[in-house]
Amino acid sequence: MSPRTIIEPFRIHSVEPLRMTTEAERRAAIAAAGYNLFSLRSDDVLIDLLTDSGTGAMSSEQWAGIQRGDEAYAGSPSWYRFEAAVKALFPLDHVIPTHQGRAAEKILMTAIGGPGKKVPNNTHFDTTRANVEATGAEAVDLVIREGLDPALEHPFKGNMDLDRLEAFLGRHAVDVPAVFVTITNNSGGGQPVSLENLRGVRSLCDRFGVPLFLDACRFAENAWFIRERESGQAGREVADIVRDIAALADGMTMSAKKDGLANIGGWLAVRDDELAARCRNLLILTEGFPTYGGLAGRDLDAIAQGLSEVVQHDYLRYRVRSTAYLGDGLHRAGVPVMRPVGGHAVYIDARALLPHVPPLAYPGQAVAVALYEAGGIRACEIGTVMFGLHPDGSETPAALDLVRLAIPRRTYTQSHIDYVIEVCSEVAERSGHLRGYRITDAPPALRHFTARFEPLAD
Ligand SMILES: *Cc1c(COP(=O)(O)O)cnc(C)c1O
Repeated sequence: MSPRTIIEPFRIHSVEPLRMTTEAERRAAIAAAGYNLFSLRSDDVLIDLLTDSGTGAMSSEQWAGIQRGDEAYAGSPSWYRFEAAVKALFPLDHVIPTHQGRAAEKILMTAIGGPGKKVPNNTHFDTTRANVEATGAEAVDLVIREGLDPALEHPFKGNMDLDRLEAFLGRHAVDVPAVFVTITNNSGGGQPVSLENLRGVRSLCDRFGVPLFLDACRFAENAWFIRERESGQAGREVADIVRDIAALADGMTMSAKKDGLANIGGWLAVRDDELAARCRNLLILTEGFPTYGGLAGRDLDAIAQGLSEVVQHDYLRYRVRSTAYLGDGLHRAGVPVMRPVGGHAVYIDARALLPHVPPLAYPGQAVAVALYEAGGIRACEIGTVMFGLHPDGSETPAALDLVRLAIPRRTYTQSHIDYVIEVCSEVAERSGHLRGYRITDAPPALRHFTARFEPLAD
């Protein structure tokens, strides 16, 4: 028999109770939070799909790694296990541990960014964009056009637009310190990038003499999609596909809170000796000694073990299938979702669901608040709140107004997800009554984390 049901490839070893709340309690909680989901107490959330970052469940072997962790300041065995696990997948000469992905971005951009520089990417993630712009450089998104059409089916919607990249490098190569490719393309819907496309980016980088960096947070999910969807890749070991990807890159930034299967951690890795030396000096200023970065030895061990688990096929089959289960359920219920479903999250197309709410009234925020009020589900706006504000203070609609339901790894069961489908369907049925929001208070950058909102009057 070859069963059709794909089961969770683990059983539960310790449990965390969920706290039930009433709709009245949730309405009061979100109003007090200024209608910002980041400002809620997580105790007031039933199903927390705010992010898949650092929120997953660790395995018993990872917890054993936590016990094994060696806290020597310099040269700990935990560091050597971590470095070996990273290099087994990404054989880059210099691995520089950081407390999370953005610390790696900050260090790298401080070293290579600056006014007048331009950094192309398929789509910059929010912290990546902010770290590019914080140095005075410009962050440019060059994803293929198909990647901007939420309803369109395409196997690799995260691909870089090679024609536009070629034209861009033709004009600006001297000002480009690196080309970035984000795998999977988080802000573009968790969509994968094909190996063929990465090879195309590599050959353009070679032609114009520009290094290629990976924002590799979900490298294992991306490699699984390559195995599933790219011709000639079926049946390969995911770890080998990852090594093929790594062979194309001059460096990478990584958040171990994603495909490191850990609660904290990250790294920067580069081939270039001189760049590595500059980055290590910055690391010592802000993160710590080069054999621990901002991490405890126990965290390094948890990540090392996580990297061996994340490329296992049973895990990835379950991971990608269970995310698609949510997306397909919403699609069937008539909720407009980004197609095809990505690896770590399902994205509701809030602009399509709320055509009566203009982008500058934040339809994504309206949907996210409604999901919380109706069912205690915490999602994340990925749209005009997150990307609409520019460094010069002007505001324009983002390319898309999405609401991301990110799935923490190995954390929720199928009945939790059935509940999420039910709540989203209920909110979609009365979407015509949802109103937009206005921002009453916001910081000058990364405003989505701390802005306060007010519902617009009818
Ligand atoms: C999460 C993420 C980052 C930043 O990593 P943190 O660990 O949250 O600092 C960068 N790029 C992408 C694509 C991400 O998903």
